[in-house]
Amino acid sequence: MILCDRLTKVYNGIPAVDDLCLEIPAGEVFGLLGPNGAGKSTTILMLVGLIRPTSGACSIGGIEVAAHPIEVKRKIGYMPEDVGFYADRTAAENLDYAARFYGLAEVERKRRVGDLLALVGLDGVGTTVGGYSKGMRQRLGLARALVNDPEVVILDEPTANLDPRGVLDYRRIVRDLAGRGTTVLVSSHILSEVSKVCTSVGILARGRLVASGDREVLSRAAMQDRVTIDVETGNPMPRFASPEILSAEFSQDACSARIVAESDISTLIAKTLYTEGILLRRLAVEKPDMEDILLSYYTEGTA
Ligand code: ADP
Repeated sequence: MILCDRLTKVYNGIPAVDDLCLEIPAGEVFGLLGPNGAGKSTTILMLVGLIRPTSGACSIGGIEVAAHPIEVKRKIGYMPEDVGFYADRTAAENLDYAARFYGLAEVERKRRVGDLLALVGLDGVGTTVGGYSKGMRQRLGLARALVNDPEVVILDEPTANLDPRGVLDYRRIVRDLAGRGTTVLVSSHILSEVSKVCTSVGILARGRLVASGDREVLSRAAMQDRVTIDVETGNPMPRFASPEILSAEFSQDACSARIVAESDISTLIAKTLYTEGILLRRLAVEKPDMEDILLSYYTEGTA
């Protein structure tokens, strides 16, 4: 459904996207993963027809984007990293305005706008967008990307501004879209986030695809993303309860522990100790950085 064939974009002699070959079948939730500056946004901008490739090509549903940008835009829904709206209009007015571009009749627009606002949890919000938080804007951005009931949805860093509740809503929406056969491409620099919703993943580093595949690549990458937390206390610790904890080893006196978790839960640990009146002597967090993880792929990919 989404195809990149030797897709390349060069800025000032430096490739931002370098010879990218990618094939995403229909119904897939694909995660484009990579650190900042890897070329994710540039890839997406070419896929949605907002910039032209220097060489190579990309197509959506068999239609080449650079040759038929308008046709492609009808098929896709796109949420950019920074979503722009009319600040003096409400969410419903902004969505209605976007829906007009697709030639929907008024009755249908009204129904669609109502459904989308409910879907992203903004129904009943009557104020204008100018007063929205970043998270609310991102929710509205997601609704706008879905206004034309697209076959392909492309989301650039969709969870960047969302609070935990927003992230859960977003995951539910993406799973729901996938369940209806929509193809979804999500970009992110957060490994654990991609592993939560995506069925396959491509890892981008310095404009090049250094690894791609399904769950296996994801779980391997997620494994390397684990956080190790060493805790030492003055009196015995309780067991910490968090679904993020993968393993916990306690010393015999329970005054030291090594906890391996899916994400950094050091705040939760500190709070629990404080609440229980336990003296905290040391709390050290060891987190692999994304660059290191990607570098291991990069080295393997070029070996
Ligand atoms: P990501 O989305 O993964 O953070 P980008 O696609 O935004 O990465 O950027 C990839 C590289 O291309 C970066 O080095 C960035 O500085 C460069 N770049 C992006 N857009 C432009 C532009 N319009 N002009 C010059 N360089 C650009």
